[in-house]
Amino acid sequence: MDQAMMPIQPYPHLLSPLRVGPLTLRNRVVMGSMHTRLEHFEDGVARQCAFYAERARGGVALLVTGGVGPNAAGLLEPGAPLLTEPAQGEAWRPVVRAVQDEGTPILMQILHAGRYAKHAEAVGASAIASPINPRSVHPLTHAEILATIADFARCAALAVEAGFDGVEVMGSEGYLLNQFAAARTNDRDDDWGGDAARRRRLPVAVTEAVRAVLGRDRLLVYRISAIDLVEGGADAEETVALARAIAAAGADALNTGIGWHEARVPTIAASVPRGAWRFATARLARAVAIPVIASNRINTPELAESVIAEGEAALVSMARPLLADPAFVRKAASGRAAEINTCIACNQGCLDYIFTNRSATCLVNPRAGRETEWPTPEPVARPRRIAVVGAGPAGLACATTAAARGHRVVLFEAGPAIGGQFLLAQAAPGKAEFAETLRYFGALLARHGVEQRLGRHAEADALAAEGFDAVVVATGALPRRPAIPGLDHPSVTGYADILSGAVVAGRRVAVIGAGGIGLDVAAFLAEEEDEPETHPDRFRAAWGVDGETRTAGGLAPPAVARPRREVTVLRRGLGRPGERLGVSTAWILRARLKSLGVSFITGCEYVGIDDAGLHYVLQREPRTLAADTIVLCAGQEPDHALVEALTAAGVAAEAVGGAAEALELDALRAIEEGSRLGLRL
Ligand code: NAP
Ligand code: SF4
Repeated sequence: MDQAMMPIQPYPHLLSPLRVGPLTLRNRVVMGSMHTRLEHFEDGVARQCAFYAERARGGVALLVTGGVGPNAAGLLEPGAPLLTEPAQGEAWRPVVRAVQDEGTPILMQILHAGRYAKHAEAVGASAIASPINPRSVHPLTHAEILATIADFARCAALAVEAGFDGVEVMGSEGYLLNQFAAARTNDRDDDWGGDAARRRRLPVAVTEAVRAVLGRDRLLVYRISAIDLVEGGADAEETVALARAIAAAGADALNTGIGWHEARVPTIAASVPRGAWRFATARLARAVAIPVIASNRINTPELAESVIAEGEAALVSMARPLLADPAFVRKAASGRAAEINTCIACNQGCLDYIFTNRSATCLVNPRAGRETEWPTPEPVARPRRIAVVGAGPAGLACATTAAARGHRVVLFEAGPAIGGQFLLAQAAPGKAEFAETLRYFGALLARHGVEQRLGRHAEADALAAEGFDAVVVATGALPRRPAIPGLDHPSVTGYADILSGAVVAGRRVAVIGAGGIGLDVAAFLAEEEDEPETHPDRFRAAWGVDGETRTAGGLAPPAVARPRREVTVLRRGLGRPGERLGVSTAWILRARLKSLGVSFITGCEYVGIDDAGLHYVLQREPRTLAADTIVLCAGQEPDHALVEALTAAGVAAEAVGGAAEALELDALRAIEEGSRLGLRL
């Protein structure tokens, strides 16, 4: 073939095969282990088969299951998967087959939770409890350590019996093996602790024992902590020494974890810039001869390609990006990367659901984790002409889903661009990823031929006159205007005007309302000029991370923030600001606001607004907060106006998202409701 006619291979490094241990992987994308809690359902096996097979079909080269305990003490929580006898292995067989039938090898992750175990039998190197788990820790005796090594080996042998292509040994994130390796949690002075070499002994012994039972025709991956991000964690020298020892003990590849679960540095949230941890993986890749797998905040094929092309890792592990889009690899390989539903690192549907004992799903892909129950998108026999009014998340999800099934959809939007609340959200520090969801929906609108009418209000009469077969109202909720005297004072503005840049706030700002929007607005207004969320170096400086990892755990004194404004957030209730925000990210936002000097006033009663500022009563004392700008972030109210007008005009309309119910509306619910309606129309 003429050179000029040769198709250009997109992402040549990412999509090239690689020999790892006994396996030849078809590309460099590994689906990393994640807890899904799907096993807690009665039909958990069927759900896991569907969940994993869909990701295998999407083209990943290797898949790793969620963690499985090698013994009862190592379980993360009661009811978590355990593998100590053949019958438990047999239960995995359908999952293994479902994945392998799609041409993808599958590893079982062996995870011993150690002192993170949420049950009374938690064990560890020493009797040092974790700050995120109040349970006391039984320090393992020498005999118990030997038994634990044997349990890892038995678990690996049972995994092989069940058909797995190998195992991943979990040695990062602060779980048992990581706890033995770090001085922070290991104050023993025996064969298993005392100096770095003896602290390494358990991870090495486990690797050797597992290698011995796997033989050479099964894959052994060890997941190592590339940087601990806790005081008393390993420094670079110890981490490299451990990596070399694990390689020498027989691991075929090193996967990498970043930060312990108790670390006070964010590692995977959206406020962490993409690729922020490449440096830590690259250090290990330089130190060992076996392939190293990069992870954390790698969510696009471009970034994954560059990590591999620059030799910082041989493979890339993605977990949440494949929850968001199971066909990530297939789309990247077929020139449809613009249609990848990118993980926006919000954690709202995955980690926050897991932490509240629900099974994982995804904010941008509500089908995730519900593959067996989610309605199959049926192509429509008789396409209808459908108007969707409002191009926020609910409207976009509805319009694209309905159009994909064959309906002729017209999307109306009063603003000049699609996005609704997402357009505002993406302006908040650390939320730039929201733009990816709009890029994705934009690509789908084009692919499915949705007609877009932007920049004009859709009036009921005009909609009625066009004679649509169905009208969907997705106009969102309206910002609440609280009944505070003086609300028309020139210092008062709404959050939309602030986030859109229509209004520039003064130096002293009062934010009324401490929900998700109030805190995002406070961060937007106080954030430094050089937003640390946008650049890995500034992010590391702001959160106190030593890029060289010369210190234990890789921690350094954080840079002192230089806030742009004095911001005070007020609320009437006594609860914590942002109390309804997800546990996995609320602490990050609160910590950042604290370092930016944002103040909070709770339990106040608003009295009025005038030239002196915001008057309020706190503990029966009248007070005044001098403010140049007062921003209303007092929640939302439903907007039924269009539905009522359409009904009056004799047009049956269905409302979705905030237009239906504003209470506790968030993007997750909006996209799910929009998608479900799009499947039903
Ligand atoms: P919200 O979470 O309901 O918070 C509204 C705030 O306004 C509360 O702090 C409330 O506090 C105050 N408020 C309510 N009625 C008021 C009144 N009549 N007068 C004065 N203050 C009043 O709503 P939101 O902040 O608008 O957020 C909307 C939705 O988006 C929520 O579901 C939120 O979780 C979600 N969201 C999530 C994120 C995220 O990062 N995950 C970010 C932004 C938004 P008091 O009643 O105590 O005064
Ligand atoms: Fe990513 Fe958010 Fe989906 Fe989790 S819920 S997979 S973080 S987009």
